Amino acid sequence: MAKSKSPEEYCSFCGQHIPYNKVLIHGVNGAICENCIQAVNEVFRDIKTEEDQKQKENVKIKLLKPKQIKEKLDEYVIGQDEAKKVISVAVYNHYKRILYDQQDDVDIEKSNIILVGETGTGKTLIARTIAKLLDVPFCIADATVFTEAGYVGEDVESILTRLLQAADYDVARAERGIVFIDEIDKIARKGADNPSITRDVSGEGVQQSLLKLLEGSIVNVPPQGGRKHPEQKFIEVNTKNILFVGSGAFNSIDKIIAERMNTNVIGYNKKKHDIDKKNMMQYISAHDLKSFGLIPELCGRFPVITYMNALDANALRRILVEPKNALVKQYERLFKLDGITLTFDDDSLDYIVNKAVELKLGARGLRSIIEKIMTNAMYEFPSSSKKKISISADYARQQFESSIFSFLD
Ligand code: ADP
Repeated sequence: MAKSKSPEEYCSFCGQHIPYNKVLIHGVNGAICENCIQAVNEVFRDIKTEEDQKQKENVKIKLLKPKQIKEKLDEYVIGQDEAKKVISVAVYNHYKRILYDQQDDVDIEKSNIILVGETGTGKTLIARTIAKLLDVPFCIADATVFTEAGYVGEDVESILTRLLQAADYDVARAERGIVFIDEIDKIARKGADNPSITRDVSGEGVQQSLLKLLEGSIVNVPPQGGRKHPEQKFIEVNTKNILFVGSGAFNSIDKIIAERMNTNVIGYNKKKHDIDKKNMMQYISAHDLKSFGLIPELCGRFPVITYMNALDANALRRILVEPKNALVKQYERLFKLDGITLTFDDDSLDYIVNKAVELKLGARGLRSIIEKIMTNAMYEFPSSSKKKISISADYARQQFESSIFSFLD
């Protein structure tokens, strides 16, 4: 290619005569002038914009506003208003960030979330419901099975194997999914306030390995997971837009919070009075997670922290009947399919709730209790001529107490 200086030359594209002082680029069989180069450039720019637009449409995330997300969560998750609000905002910001990425030079950071709360309070349910609402792949990983690379146990990369599987190996879809890391409190550093120099394979080491996934990097993921298939080709997954939700009970963290609040408010007696001592969890901060044993770098990658309330009898009662897929609704539907109208008397529901409270089974126990109560009915009634059944407290008690397993899982 050469720049023309000759006064007689023409552009092979527009046919215009190009004066010697204008640009004309020569190729093997012709030449192109400055105007035509610009025109070609514009065509390419339009094509690229169209492609970008298509790519954005392909993202196919049903981005709902925070209030809409919360309203949808209300249909499935009882109570936990504060957590639902915080999560709705975090999820909205996270996906807005993906959809409108790179429109200017302000880099919006990820909103990975940590959910703190007793087991069976709805932490998994919230994350799973959000993934369903937004139609993004979702997977659950248990932090306790991971070890630092090179040790016996699963490498943290295998978390992404599960996400890939949930996305049917559609890498682009997986890259916008939600990963729920359960029992993240179990990988806390032992003796948190007294960091030991010795290696801590299952605690701090795993936290260190998780950093890479959380911060947004390209990770080589074994498509079959594990180390059993050394021949498998890795799939590259970019974790930049994956939303990570860490979850754990963080037993006794309320004491850590209380201690911090006490120390912080020394000298500010008025403020001390304002503290709601009955619910210290509402004051949870990254500081408390660090004191519990999460390393500061890991806390830094979970900028959103929220808590779940313990479920009292009132909440359990609502869980039985109110959610869209409430247990009572599920049993009514099962019987309806056999043409039988099933109802639960109010006091039978009270019996179920009281049993769950008494056995300290929480919401998770409701299902096992109701299953034991209903097994005989589900066995007998489809073959009988009865078209209406109501479950009384007496029937519930009798069935539950005579069930073979009096100890529930
Ligand atoms: P966690 O992850 O906190 O241990 P889950 O979300 O797995 O608890 O809850 C276990 C089950 O209990 C759920 O499948 C759901 O049926 C029920 N459940 C728990 N909390 C709630 C809640 N707040 N609202 C409705 N159902 C709940």
